[in-house]
Amino acid sequence: MTSYAEFHRRSLQDREGFWAEQAALIDWQQPFTQVCDNSRPPFTRWFVGGTTNLCHNAVDRHVAARGAQNALIFVSTETNQERVYSYAELHAEVQRMAAALLELGVKKGDRVLVYMPMIPEAAFAMLACTRIGALHSVVFGGFASVSLASRIDDAEPTLIVSADAGSRGGKVMPYKPLLDEAIQLSRHKPAKVLMVDRGLAPFTRVAGRDEDYAPLREKHLHAQVPCEWVEATHPSYTLYTSGTTGKPKGVQRDTGGYAVALAASMKHIFLGNPGETYFSTSDIGWVVGHSYIVYGPLIYGMATIMYEGLPIRPDAAIWWSLVEKYKVTSMFSAPTAVRVLKKQDPAALKKHDLSSLRALFLAGEPLDEPTAKWIAESLGRPIIDNYWQTETGWPILALCNGVEKAASKFGSPGKAVFGYDVKLFDENTGAELTGANQKGVVAIEGPLPPGCMQTVWRDDERFVKTYWNSIPGRSVYTTFDWGIRDEDGYFFILGRTDDVINVAGHRLGTREIEESISSHANVAEVAVVGVADPLKGQVAMAFAVLKDPGKAATPEMALKLEGEIMKVVDEQLGAVARPARVRFVSVLPKTRSGKLLRRAIQAVCEGRDPGDLTTIEDPSALQQVKDLVAG
Ligand code: AMP
Repeated sequence: MTSYAEFHRRSLQDREGFWAEQAALIDWQQPFTQVCDNSRPPFTRWFVGGTTNLCHNAVDRHVAARGAQNALIFVSTETNQERVYSYAELHAEVQRMAAALLELGVKKGDRVLVYMPMIPEAAFAMLACTRIGALHSVVFGGFASVSLASRIDDAEPTLIVSADAGSRGGKVMPYKPLLDEAIQLSRHKPAKVLMVDRGLAPFTRVAGRDEDYAPLREKHLHAQVPCEWVEATHPSYTLYTSGTTGKPKGVQRDTGGYAVALAASMKHIFLGNPGETYFSTSDIGWVVGHSYIVYGPLIYGMATIMYEGLPIRPDAAIWWSLVEKYKVTSMFSAPTAVRVLKKQDPAALKKHDLSSLRALFLAGEPLDEPTAKWIAESLGRPIIDNYWQTETGWPILALCNGVEKAASKFGSPGKAVFGYDVKLFDENTGAELTGANQKGVVAIEGPLPPGCMQTVWRDDERFVKTYWNSIPGRSVYTTFDWGIRDEDGYFFILGRTDDVINVAGHRLGTREIEESISSHANVAEVAVVGVADPLKGQVAMAFAVLKDPGKAATPEMALKLEGEIMKVVDEQLGAVARPARVRFVSVLPKTRSGKLLRRAIQAVCEGRDPGDLTTIEDPSALQQVKDLVAG
């Protein structure tokens, strides 16, 4: 058995040989002629000259050997449905969807925006897009009209696939009115909207634009739509994520590199085997849903569970009952979900036979020690933290137990994953920190491995400027996270270096929330910061200066105004972005040059020392925040 240290070393020193071997995990139509072309950094091209197709690798290639085996297991505790699609059935469904997209005018290279709840048709739509060489752009169903409109304008989709409604905790959440409003707000108007009618919420149709999926599916019941062979470097999708500025970035992913990276991760990190069952509790609107609900497990010939509902409804045993029923071998969730379960009856975990489970993988936010201990003890199965980002598409730090078993350390997502040359840098001087336990910015020396972002959609300059020019004097990819590495090569992640916050595993830009709050007629200025929270990891806290402070003169009036502002955020961005509190101050803490002192506000909210305040314009501003927090 190769040691992991040797495996990792080879992935960097013999990049070509290493990745050529991993590339054999997927099917190619035309073999590639060059493994890695890094002649124009940071625009690395992987598997140049090769042609392949993501949908072929996820679906078609398994039909002969495992056509009757489970491919997609859909469970909704919202609508009480459970539907299992075999690989052969999935193949048929994806072709029906692909035929519908083609009939509605979608062509190779076009974008298709997917705004859907967690239903099988969402996965069919994603696979149908990559089948025909169109790019999907999935927008999380919890986002509201303004968030959606900005993504429509950036992706300029030919078509949008949506549904009448989602459901959460038994409450129907209509999607169509939000979509109609978003299209109204956007400059770009999609030619067609394809609607999956679940019969949950009646909706109106725009003549000539909106099409129902059911009759189209019926029409194309026996459709045979061949996979479009595309260059390995052909973009497969864009996925929007938050950064420092208010405008979300479209992370653009390739085809061949992504398929290879996912297959390699299933084998070496996620301990999967073809024919087994994988269960990721994420949502298709996030990167985990792309990589580890849809593509990763399917590319590896596994069955994947798609779950619509809460982890505690009908009771806290629901996920574990699915593990038992479908003999799940690998499960992927987020610390927030574990913290929710922790508040419930721990006996729920003991009710089911979990012996099939090799490990529970957790990612998306820091895994605190009490949560890690509780779930490890309750499950009696290994817990494996892993750290990555929408941008990378698959783990940067993890334990690659498929290569060599390693002990985990509480609070650490593990070591650098194969293909990633992870380094730490001093943010001010750009010096590399090579010693143990030094805090620095976590960065990756290029080229990034296969599967990572190619660029920012239609904005190469932003890609270079944002990610590759942030550390003085260095051309390295920055993660925008602080971290340290111990003497054994284990990393510890210590939070973001930028204005991105992480609420219940959801990544949000504080600037986006500030922009939304500022649209309220009475808000002159606002600062939003992320504050530590025992359940959600972080919550957003807003401090606003009012144009007319009289409107918040009494506690009752302030509370009413706070409610109004929260409603604005709900309607524009979605409830995921709603701040926990909106407080009113007469002035915001700023430097003399007018820069908002967000970190000082955050420190005060968390009861920490705000640090050096010599540049503050008006010290009483921070005192106001202090008083509000204390009160
Ligand atoms: P996203 O792009 O939504 O996946 O968010 C990525 C960010 O989430 C990272 O930059 C980290 O700040 C945080 N994150 C993800 N996984 C972990 C982890 N295992 N431990 C600590 N932070 C994490």
